Amino acid sequence: MYIVHIASECTPVAKVGGLGDVVYGLAGELARRGHTVEIILPRYDCMRHDRIANFHVAYQDLWVPWNGGAIRCTVWYGDVDGRQCFFIDPHSDEHFFDRGSYYGYWDDPMRMAFFSKAALEFLVKTGKRPEVLHCHDWQTALVPVLLYELYQEALPHQRACLTIHNFKHQGTTDIHLLHAAGLGRPEYFLRADKLRDDHSHHAINLMKGGIVYANFVTTVSPHHAWEARHTEMGFGMGHALYVQQDKFKGILNGLDYDYWNPRTDSHIPHHYDRDSLKTKDKNRKALRQRLWLREAKKPIVAYVGRLDSQKGVHLIRHGLFYALANEAQFVLLGSSPEMGINDYFWHLKQELNDNPDCHLEIGFDEDLAHLIYAGADIAIVPSNFEPCGLTQLISLRYGTVPVVRAVGGLQDTVFDRDHSPKEVEKRNGFVFEHSDHAGLESALSRALRLWHGDPAAFRELQLQGMAWDYSWNRPTEEYLQIYAFIRHQ
Ligand code: ADP
Repeated sequence: MYIVHIASECTPVAKVGGLGDVVYGLAGELARRGHTVEIILPRYDCMRHDRIANFHVAYQDLWVPWNGGAIRCTVWYGDVDGRQCFFIDPHSDEHFFDRGSYYGYWDDPMRMAFFSKAALEFLVKTGKRPEVLHCHDWQTALVPVLLYELYQEALPHQRACLTIHNFKHQGTTDIHLLHAAGLGRPEYFLRADKLRDDHSHHAINLMKGGIVYANFVTTVSPHHAWEARHTEMGFGMGHALYVQQDKFKGILNGLDYDYWNPRTDSHIPHHYDRDSLKTKDKNRKALRQRLWLREAKKPIVAYVGRLDSQKGVHLIRHGLFYALANEAQFVLLGSSPEMGINDYFWHLKQELNDNPDCHLEIGFDEDLAHLIYAGADIAIVPSNFEPCGLTQLISLRYGTVPVVRAVGGLQDTVFDRDHSPKEVEKRNGFVFEHSDHAGLESALSRALRLWHGDPAAFRELQLQGMAWDYSWNRPTEEYLQIYAFIRHQ
């Protein structure tokens, strides 16, 4: 099959969070199975050009109709760890992708709508005719809308699959976007069964448009598929998902087991696997050295991830102080686009600057993230909502015991050592229910007690976590079934 991913992120070139990992991992596994896979991305000025091989111009003058005129783009080709990627580079006064960051601008919906349209123009002009276009999140949710409304003649057999990684961000904007993208007809698109935002009736909602128009819609875990339909975690998308329920499914994300592999990971100093778990101690030592933590007979508790209200910031903070007060060290790696949260953690960092048991690293650092997964003993993921969550999967792969809140994909992947109905030998972490201090403590205290009180049992739990297969093997099978299904529609 011939599949093209149209996405705003791909690890390690342009990564903000899990979306980048998923595009990278799924595309890699599809290609390994012999399918033809290409990825279309924006060419951001801030992306990691050093991670792209054979970077060259693939298409010189791609004119993309926009705002009543047209914008000229250069399309670049590059190889990202064997993945074939095309990068759209528009030349216009808006400097859509030359702004120093991936997201966070007032015209983000316009930037991404332009990208979506440019990707389709690229396919049309180059004669590329994939069977499936796989789009991701609100950023490229306009692709199915454009495909159906504007490109039916040029791309009559192409089908669109939309994967929603996060319902919180939906790309809500005003009707100017319809004009800019060449869709026009606001009276038509502002209908409840089209792109109209369910809360603000004069606004359009790109994610909703994607849900309505895509041939299939997925989210990133079965439990979150239920939450999105039936709870506030769908952020108002419940009704649209109810209407489209026959084409909506939760598929658990996988992890790229080559990229995240403690046996071969080039970011970590000491390689190990289930048979040599003891070597993990050396990575703990290396982590301590790198972050100026003292040597002590204490476990390292870690948090890696965005510092966002989604992630349970109050519990991350509580986990930190609870660990320090209970014979553990704490390491944090994270950043936040929200000034308030970022400032808060900078203050906390200053406050704890002289504490030899604690280090806060504020920023994005792929290399350090790998060392933390390899060197830490326990990872906390106390999210308020979590569509899938990759940090717990990476932790399991690296023998780091996850302590998570029972929500979304965390509930689908982590099974409490003491209370899960799963067979004892399949249990892999600690789980708590309520998003409060007592909840977190109920799980973190058990993890710390086990580490101090029964090292052999803790080690057994680490090994049980490492034995789980959260690779792309199974999820890819499920996506292929969906591709096959929509192809014949
Ligand atoms: P989300 O997509 O909501 O951000 P996920 O758990 O699905 O969360 O994916 C997070 C991914 O981003 C993981 O690969 C994690 O290691 C990585 N990550 C998050 N924050 C950072 C950071 N500050 N530095 C390095 N990697 C990070």
